[in-house]
Formats: sequence, C-alpha cells, structure tokens
Amino acid sequence: MNNICVFCSASDQVDPLYKKAAEALGNVLGAEGVRLIYGGASIGLMGILANTVLGAGGEVIGVIPENLQQRELAHQGLSELHVTKTMQERQKMMADLADVFVILPGGLGTLTELTEVMTWKQLNIHDKPIFLLNIGGFWDPLLKTFAHMDKQGFFHGEYSHIFEVFDDIEALQACIIQTKT
Ligand code: AMP
Repeated sequence: MNNICVFCSASDQVDPLYKKAAEALGNVLGAEGVRLIYGGASIGLMGILANTVLGAGGEVIGVIPENLQQRELAHQGLSELHVTKTMQERQKMMADLADVFVILPGGLGTLTELTEVMTWKQLNIHDKPIFLLNIGGFWDPLLKTFAHMDKQGFFHGEYSHIFEVFDDIEALQACIIQTKT
C-alpha cells in the first residue's frame, strides 16, 4: 500500500471537523511515507490534504481535467500534476495509480468517485481496497441507503466486502502500517 488515492471535498464551506480529519490524514500519509494520489485541486479538503502531506515531506501526485484547472485552482506546488483531457481520463489515471482508495467526506464529486470505484470492483475491473472514512458518522445515511438497496435485491451478490468502514484516522493508520510494502 504505497500509493493511496484519496477522494474528498473541493469545498471550503465545511465543518472544521472535516478539515481537521483531512489534515490528520495528510500527517499520517507524510509520516508513513505513503504517496498521495488525488484530484489536484488547491481548494477544500483536497487542498488541505495535499498541503499537509507536502508539509510533512511527502510526495503528492495530482490529476486534474483541463476544464477544471481554473475552477478548482489546480495546485502548483505538487510533486507531479497531470492534466487530462476529460474527467473520465482523470478517474482512470487516479484508479490506475492507486493501490488503495480512501474516501473522506465530500459532495457529489466524491460520491461519484466512490460509487465508480465500488462499481468497478463489483464488476472485477479491479480488486483494490476501498476504505470509507466515516468521520463523525458522515457516511451513515449512505451506508443506510446501501443496506436498503441490498435488502431490496439491487446489489449483485454480497456487497459488504466491496469496502471497509473506518470511524477514525487512527484505525486507518494502523491498517496502513500493517499492509505497507
Ligand atoms: P465534491 O465532492 O463535489 O466537492 O468534488 C470532489 C472532486 O470530485 C472534485 O475534484 C470534482 O471535480 C470531482 N469529480 C469527479 N467526478 C465528478 C463528477 N462526475 N461530477 C462532479 N465532480 C466530479
């Protein structure tokens, strides 16, 4: 687990609880020498995360589509910044570079990214771990929705193995230490 792809919010208008979580995750990645792969923005939780990893001496690879470079203020101080033609190319490049996916709280973009890597895993397109960071119970309503979809027969087989839920960064850090190569 040397390349962690993190999906998270591009918004700055969120509770400090989530900003602290992004910072804490950044410090863990920096301390453990794990490379961050992310969406390349300098704003929101994405910006906090990238800046913290860089500040801790870590490596950060950003991947951003060309039409979002201005809107999401592409980070100019990363170890590497890849600019893709489309959102789909961005998503594929981040997924190819990742050994594992970690999902912090976020909005529609984060939800899209999460459900996409979940769907790809269900279809055996990849078999990489997906870790949901359930800070302050943020993802509880979504987990409830997944359980409802499952109960109504809309999942294709057992779905609980698709992702793992962590309630705090400490639990995730222990897992990173265990599986680091
Ligand atoms: P959000 O969670 O809405 O703040 O978005 C977080 C990141 O997800 C941003 O960098 C978005 O550009 C990105 N994203 C990825 N796929 C999509 C999509 N299909 N629609 C909107 N945003 C997306």
